[in-house]
Amino acid sequence: MKNWTLQKKWTYASALSIFLSFLMMSAILYFSLYNWMLMSEKRVAHNTLNEVVSFFESQGPVISVQDIQRNRTLINQLVNQEQSIRVLNADGIELLRINDASPFSAFEPTSIKEFEKDKVEGQTIFHKSAEIDFGLFKGYIEISHSLSNFEELMRYILLAITLFSLIALLLSAFIGYSLSAFMLRPIKELRDEMQEAKRTRFSKEVNFERLSKDEIGELMKIYKELMDEVNETITRQDEFIHNVSHELRTPIQVVEGHLALLNRWGKEQRDVLDESLDISLAEVQKMKVLIEEMLKLAKNEQTFENTNTRLLNVVKELEQQLEVLSPTSSIVYRGNENISVNIPSTTLEQILRNLMENAIKYNENDPKIIIEAWEDTSKVVITVSDNGIGIKKESLSKIFDRFYTADEARSKNKGGSGLGLSIVQRLVVAYKGSINVESNQNGTKFSIYFPKFTSE
Ligand code: ADP
Repeated sequence: MKNWTLQKKWTYASALSIFLSFLMMSAILYFSLYNWMLMSEKRVAHNTLNEVVSFFESQGPVISVQDIQRNRTLINQLVNQEQSIRVLNADGIELLRINDASPFSAFEPTSIKEFEKDKVEGQTIFHKSAEIDFGLFKGYIEISHSLSNFEELMRYILLAITLFSLIALLLSAFIGYSLSAFMLRPIKELRDEMQEAKRTRFSKEVNFERLSKDEIGELMKIYKELMDEVNETITRQDEFIHNVSHELRTPIQVVEGHLALLNRWGKEQRDVLDESLDISLAEVQKMKVLIEEMLKLAKNEQTFENTNTRLLNVVKELEQQLEVLSPTSSIVYRGNENISVNIPSTTLEQILRNLMENAIKYNENDPKIIIEAWEDTSKVVITVSDNGIGIKKESLSKIFDRFYTADEARSKNKGGSGLGLSIVQRLVVAYKGSINVESNQNGTKFSIYFPKFTSE
C-alpha cells in the first residue's frame, strides 16, 4: 500500500466506501422488508384463524363434530391457498383437515399462545391453535400457514440485492477511478510542470490549462507566481552577468593597455608612470561604479539624485580612451558646450561608449564620429552619427534586442555579442529617456532624448 499511487489509493477508498454504504443500506432494507412481510404473513394467518373461530361461534352455542364436518365447504372459503386448518379434539387428535395446502407439525398445546415457526416436510410454516368449546365439542382449531411463497420472494429479493451489490461494486470502482482521475488531474498537471521546470532549469514559463477555484487551484496559482519570480530572477541574473562582462571589456582593455605601457616604458620614464597609473586607477574606480550601476539596473533601482553630468566632459573622457584603443578614429563634438543630463556620468559614458564602439566596429573607413547636442524647454537631445557601413532596413527594428546581430559573421568577427545596444536602450529607458536610429549606406545616426535637467 505504501507504493500505491494517490490515484490508486483514492480509487480503492472511494470505491470501498461507496460499496460499503450501498451494502449497509441494502442489508437494512432487506431485514426491514423481511420483518415487515413476515409480520404481514402472521397477520393474515391470525385473521384467518379468528375468522374460522368466529364462524364456528356464529353457528350457535352447541356444535357437534358433525356440524363442523358439514360446514367444511364454507370454512374452505375462509382459508387461502397457503393455509390449512385442522380441528383437533381435546386430546389433540386430528378430526378434520380443511385445505391441505400447508403441513402441520405434531400438535402442542403451547401453540395456543403464540404463532410458532416450524419446519415441516421441508416447508417453513407458521402455526397457531385456538381453544374451542361448543358445548358438545371441546377441542382445538389449528392453522398452518405456509411461508414457502414468502421465502421464495425473499430469496428472489436477496438475489436481486446481491446482483445489484455486484453492479454497485463495479460502478463504485468506476466512479472511484473517474473521480480520482478528475480530482487528481490538476495535481498531475502541477507535477508535470514541476518536472518540466526541473528539466528546463526554470527557463520555461509555467502555464496551466485552467485554474480551479479550490485549494489545488490556489496551490497552482502560487506555484506559477513563484516560478515566474524565479524565472525573472534567473533572467535578471543572467542578464546582469552578461551585461557586466560586456561592459567591463573596454575598461579592462584600457587598463591592460596602460599596464603594458608601464611595463615597457614606465620603469624609466617618470611621466609615463604617473599618467598610466592615474588612468588605470581612475579606470578601476569607474569599473567599480559601473558594476554598482549595472546592479541597480538589474534590480530596477536607479536613483535620480541631482546628478548633473556635463556631456562635454564625458565626450572628452571617451576621446582619450579611444585615442589608445583606436588611434585612427576621430570624435567631433558639435553643439552647446554646457549641456547636462540628470544621469550618473558612468552611465552616460557607458551609453556613448557603446554607440562609439559600434561606430568604429561597423566601419570600413577611418571612423568619424559626430556628437551633436541641443536642448529645448523640456528635453535634451544627443545624437551620435558615424560614417560606417549602415544598418539594413529590415534589421533596424531588431538591433535593440538582446543578442541580435545584424550581420552574424561580421559581428562575431568584431567580437560582437549583440548586447551593446540592448544595454544602451535599457540604460536610456531606466533614466526616463528614449532612443531611435536612422541609417543608410553612408552611416548611422542614433538620437537619444532625455528629460531636461531641473534642479528642484
Ligand atoms: P554587437 O555587440 O554585436 O555590436 P549591438 O547590440 O551593439 O551588438 O548591435 C547590434 C547589431 O547592430 C550589430 O551586430 C550591428 O550589426 C548593428 N549595428 C549597431 N551599431 C551599428 C553602427 N553604428 N553601424 C552599423 N551597424 C551597427
